[in-house]
Amino acid sequence: MFKGQYILMDIEGTTTSVAFVYDTLFPFFKDRIHDFLRDRASLLSVAEPLRLAQNTLWEEAGVVFTLEELAGQLVAWTAADRKHPALKAIQGAVWRAGYENGLLKGHVYEDVPPILTRWKALGMQLGIYSSGSVEAQQLLFKYSIFGDLTPCFSNHFDTAVGPKREANSYQNIAESLQLLPDTILFLSDVVGELDAAAMAGMHTIQVVRPGTVEGSRHAVANDFTAIILPD
Ligand SMILES: [Mg+2]
Repeated sequence: MFKGQYILMDIEGTTTSVAFVYDTLFPFFKDRIHDFLRDRASLLSVAEPLRLAQNTLWEEAGVVFTLEELAGQLVAWTAADRKHPALKAIQGAVWRAGYENGLLKGHVYEDVPPILTRWKALGMQLGIYSSGSVEAQQLLFKYSIFGDLTPCFSNHFDTAVGPKREANSYQNIAESLQLLPDTILFLSDVVGELDAAAMAGMHTIQVVRPGTVEGSRHAVANDFTAIILPD
């Protein structure tokens, strides 16, 4: 029986199909951003990140963009998966509107919700560590295809704690939880992330979904029902 008390998990490729981001969220942003900016660019929550994006474009290209051109730049940044705080904020606002209108539903693999419930019943605490912003994480689980799963999670971490392939990020998470790393189990599809978590002293299991590149250094589970909690 796992003596630890905390299970930390990745989203894309672990709880959720990687395709959800590339085939659903990114195209949704591309389809809506022009209308969204036209309707809401004057709202403070949109105007401020737009100004930051404009500043970056000015520094990089020396050009002031029209609203229409800015929308095009944000789509290009999305396609390049650029990690710019202004892009994250505007994407978050576009997706929030989509989730709240029922146009978007967060993908979660069907094996995940019952196991999360079981772990909670065993007294485990659950948390998310994903490169998507905390807001995007909460939206995905609040409006998931299985309903609101946010009550399952005690904590959400994004790259504000550091990059996912650096051991220091996992030390930061353990510190913030006030737990020893070896009482935490980290689940991810990406070996580089599992290596970093293991280096920080966490237990690791690779979740191998369709399309995942399987490594050899970590225990493996094909879905959440196959996860055997470590000793
Ligand atoms: Mg992943």
